[in-house]
Amino acid sequence: MKILFLDQSGKPGGAELCLIDIAKPYRDRALVGLFADGSFKTLLQQNHIPVEVFTHQPIQVRKQSNLLQALGSLGQLAPLVAKVVQRAIEYDLIYANTQKALVVGAIASLLARRPLVYHLHDILSPEHFSKTNLRVAVNLANRFASLVIANSQASEAAFVQAGGRAELTTVIYNGFEPKLYQTCALDTSKLRQNLGIEDKFVVGHFSRLSPWKGQHILIEALAKCPPQVTALLVGDALFGEQEYVKQLHQQIAQLGLENRVKFLGFRADIPQLMAACDLVTHTSTAPEPFGRVIVEAMLCGKPVVAAKAGGATELVEHGINGFLTTPGEPEELANIINSCLEDIHNTATIANNAKAIASERFNVVNINRQIAQVLSSKLIVY
Ligand code: UDP
Repeated sequence: MKILFLDQSGKPGGAELCLIDIAKPYRDRALVGLFADGSFKTLLQQNHIPVEVFTHQPIQVRKQSNLLQALGSLGQLAPLVAKVVQRAIEYDLIYANTQKALVVGAIASLLARRPLVYHLHDILSPEHFSKTNLRVAVNLANRFASLVIANSQASEAAFVQAGGRAELTTVIYNGFEPKLYQTCALDTSKLRQNLGIEDKFVVGHFSRLSPWKGQHILIEALAKCPPQVTALLVGDALFGEQEYVKQLHQQIAQLGLENRVKFLGFRADIPQLMAACDLVTHTSTAPEPFGRVIVEAMLCGKPVVAAKAGGATELVEHGINGFLTTPGEPEELANIINSCLEDIHNTATIANNAKAIASERFNVVNINRQIAQVLSSKLIVY
């Protein structure tokens, strides 16, 4: 099957990292078309996946756009749609991996007469999107998609709740290669030394810096933990959320935590950094569609505490393979951090359990098999 994948982003967020794993098995007969240049293109090239940047013109629609702004951007899309149609003719299927890719892919699927698959990596709810964007995404998927792959039951439920056709959907979780999360103890201790955290209890947070990812919740929790507890914030303000970064620095200064929080920026060595942590936290204040970082922490054999909402609740069973806290509650998070610090034995048992379950449940080989099956069996030929 020849697939034309479409993704709007030039930077690698969770949806883009997932796409790399999905596109890999098709790389000798696929093309990834991007709507922006950037480091995601380089990552695809490193994985030998053919990639082309279809436009260098930023698409103006934002997650909170109103109808007028959305309509205004349609004219701007015409050259991009024309390019996608021209390429799509050479492929059997258009696979839209993001919302703007869905808009362009839907029109192109009609014009090029190719079936459309939409991989839904978002919770389509008013918490995350404007009413207009929700309506556009759901209507286009209902009308043009042959299949909607939701990245969790939570994303599927929100799609249906927003008016999406339930019969189009199937849930497939993100896949991971467990081998990539094996690290060397000697390298880990060197890394801890280089970061100046060898004698600390290290709590990691791996996410782009964005208000709803809740780094401020971890900082507030940190103030309620003993002085040896130190936080690593790994990730950058990918989508222009510089104001939030400023606020985080102010919060840290106000709480006198300058020596206990390290900003590492965007990093490619996530397994190594996770291995250097004693605990990984996920603190999203709005429901997380999936939460790759939660599974990655499990695969690294690290205990993980996640915010109890959305897809995270499908990944973590409290006290069995991790911990759950109420979103936006630093006090609860501090209690979990402190109990992990005190009961290292129980925490290690939970982390080992999580590693074993995750290595099987989210193994990329099984997940790619599921993708291949739905693409061939559920796909309605255009
Ligand atoms: N990530 C990364 N470098 C960083 C921070 C994060 O490669 O500095 C990765 C992280 O390991 C995960 C992804 O970005 O695979 C984020 O996915 P997630 O589902 O957690 O959140 P999303 O970005 O999709 O909202």
